[in-house]
Amino acid sequence: MFENLSERLEKSFKLLKGESKITELNIAETLKDIRRALLDADVNYKTAKQFTETVKEKAMGQNVLSAVKPGEMMVKLVHDELAVLMGGEKVDINLNGNPAIILIAGLQGSGKTTFTGKLANMLKTKKRKNPLLVAGDVYRPAAINQLQVLGEQIGAKVYTEEGCKDPVKLATDGIKEAKKGAHDVVIIDTAGRLAIDEEMMNEISAVKKATSPDEILFVVDSMTGQDAVNTAKEFNDRLDFDGVVLTKLDGDTRGGAALSIRSVVDKPIKFVGMGEKMEALDVFHPSRMADRILGMGDIVSLVEKAQEQFDEEEARKLQKKIAKNQFNFDDFLKQIQQIKKMGNLKDLAGMIPGMGKMLKNVDIDDDAFKGIEAIIRSMTPLEREQPGVINGSRKKRIAAGSGTSIQEVNRLIKQFDDTRKVMKMMTTGNKMGKMMGKMP
Ligand code: GDP
Repeated sequence: MFENLSERLEKSFKLLKGESKITELNIAETLKDIRRALLDADVNYKTAKQFTETVKEKAMGQNVLSAVKPGEMMVKLVHDELAVLMGGEKVDINLNGNPAIILIAGLQGSGKTTFTGKLANMLKTKKRKNPLLVAGDVYRPAAINQLQVLGEQIGAKVYTEEGCKDPVKLATDGIKEAKKGAHDVVIIDTAGRLAIDEEMMNEISAVKKATSPDEILFVVDSMTGQDAVNTAKEFNDRLDFDGVVLTKLDGDTRGGAALSIRSVVDKPIKFVGMGEKMEALDVFHPSRMADRILGMGDIVSLVEKAQEQFDEEEARKLQKKIAKNQFNFDDFLKQIQQIKKMGNLKDLAGMIPGMGKMLKNVDIDDDAFKGIEAIIRSMTPLEREQPGVINGSRKKRIAAGSGTSIQEVNRLIKQFDDTRKVMKMMTTGNKMGKMMGKMP
């Protein structure tokens, strides 16, 4: 699913590698690439253009966050915009009626009957509902049979009327039956056609009028790309449905339907079909889908955490100190605290794509900083300010005060000297970012 789009977006972020901050110039190529990737994923032109314009605007308005690289920042911005494009928040179906009446609409072959079964299964197992399925595709005996088989499989009752060719009667009778049988949900499958025609639209509108559904779900095959979007528009103009069900997302879909349907019909995607099995139905979460499209681990939450925690003022002061070679043990201590604020070290590392796996068996001790902190805290202000004064007897006192050994004190001082050297060497670039990478 969306593999091509994911790869293309990842490549476009790589264009920003080595850049120390976002500028209009250096993101231009990335934005162009993102737009091309969206167009190739079958997102319509207007949506793609609007998308990159919004990302650009937001990127230019970002504060320079030294802890975050421009590439990472762009991943986050694109992620958030993808989620907005797909609807922002998750929207639940309305099950308030008694019984709740759900009408299923869509073209033939879109996956309506399969979805009817899947939804009933989900409501039964996850919401403890007792749904009644109405086999409303009155023209195709095979469809009625198909629903009966699915009903049996998931243990849900299916309502049919032998020889009935009137979908309105069948639907209203089905609801009566549900009331008698203490069913709290009625799911009405309807007849589709291969293409939109007037008769089908009239028929389903009549069913809608007669049943006053609590929820009308429009089912569409995501593999049909822009056609899916156009069909959605026509159905919505006639039916004013409540939500979209995108099926066959497990297939080789480019993603265009998922990405543009919301902006075209302004109705939320509520479910996605991920296979032919009855369990293969997911509630749609725009943000999680954006995660999947980007395939970027949790880099997004990493950036969020850094955004929350990073004190820009401090960072600027520190950069000045580094430039003047005045970085001392107090600053070192502050840096450690900064990193610690960002959360559990292993969790943090796990958010960086690829790192999680690498570190699975490595022991990153959250207490790794404890010894270091203790040592620094046992130094006098003079020693912190001017580490050069720390001689043998001072080391002994520091080790005793911090409950560590002279070797550990030596190691820290060496580490500190190395860090200082590296900092001195860095005359350009993202100083804070690099320095944080150097921390033990
Ligand atoms: P209807 O004519 O709209 O009722 O469509 P069906 O429910 O009969 O589905 C048409 C075909 O698509 C069937 O072969 C289903 O098994 C298949 N199908 C439905 N949903 C999905 C899905 O999410 N993933 C995949 N791979 N196949 C699906």
